[in-house]
Amino acid sequence: MTTPIQHPRCPVCEGGDANVPYPGLPDLVECPACGLLFRSDWREIAAPNAAYEEANSSPDRLLAEESRRGPYYAEISRRILTVSGSSPAAGARRDSCASDPVIPRCAENHFSALEGPGTPIPMDPAREGIHAPAPTAGGSRSPGHGTLLEIGCGAGGLLTRLHAQGWTVEGIEPSGPLHAHARARLPAEVRVHPCALEEAEPRLVHRPYQAVVALDVIEHLPDPFVLPTTAAEWLAPGGLLFLQTPNARSIRRRLQGARWEQLAPEEHFLIHSPRSLRLVLELCGFKSARIETVGGGAVDGPLRRALMRPVGRLLSLCDLGNALWAVAIKDRP
Ligand SMILES: [Zn+2]
Repeated sequence: MTTPIQHPRCPVCEGGDANVPYPGLPDLVECPACGLLFRSDWREIAAPNAAYEEANSSPDRLLAEESRRGPYYAEISRRILTVSGSSPAAGARRDSCASDPVIPRCAENHFSALEGPGTPIPMDPAREGIHAPAPTAGGSRSPGHGTLLEIGCGAGGLLTRLHAQGWTVEGIEPSGPLHAHARARLPAEVRVHPCALEEAEPRLVHRPYQAVVALDVIEHLPDPFVLPTTAAEWLAPGGLLFLQTPNARSIRRRLQGARWEQLAPEEHFLIHSPRSLRLVLELCGFKSARIETVGGGAVDGPLRRALMRPVGRLLSLCDLGNALWAVAIKDRP
């Protein structure tokens, strides 16, 4: 007589009847209601940072990869600037007409462009807090940009670029080698904290932030609510959260099955679908969220990136891209 396997309820939607999609990965289960892939023992994972730190413990590999990530960071910073309206052009428009809500409209236009399948969370029409001016940081950077925190800033490639574009940036990075590299490349006034998310709060200097960014971080945290809840606490009302994470509905998963590289339950404790990610953001106090899918890898060169862009747009129409890109606005109290 066999005992039926009991799977826990989905940590996002609390639905039951989770199934095991891959017999070779028996600890990885999928929620049939929201599409979340998660470790069945997610509540018992005691040291979620250990696998991440182990994977990033080789400085040689880190440096080799980081040197190829310029086009990737350029694309991410473009996505952020498109939504936040912090490009020089948007700043000029804002400065030329203080009473005209140019910046909220800029974000609104982007959100309209990202309208995808599913029911969007309603927009909050009053979001002026997103673009509150940053404290004066000195130097030649242009004024009027906001404060931005990157959770899991790695070797500091994105922070370096955003700092040069005028953001007042700050970072958190638990991996020792990655933190050391970020510290060495960033200007001295940029604070990069060598700690995990749950240890960071007393060290933060620019809180509340106009923007919080976390690239490929939430899949490393077994509790799906920890990072969005924390980000909501650290954001100013109307502030923006940018998330990137693997897509459980991606075409690569469908084609490669258990060989899909993102199915690594020893360090990826959950993988979101667009539906599960939207639900988490809504439950964590983000009134507006737009989610699209994106393609390409972090070390793709500019040519491959350009060639794959139309393919990525096509896949995004059906939520099939390799990763989810979410932009959410913190609700007001
Ligand atoms: Zn679920």
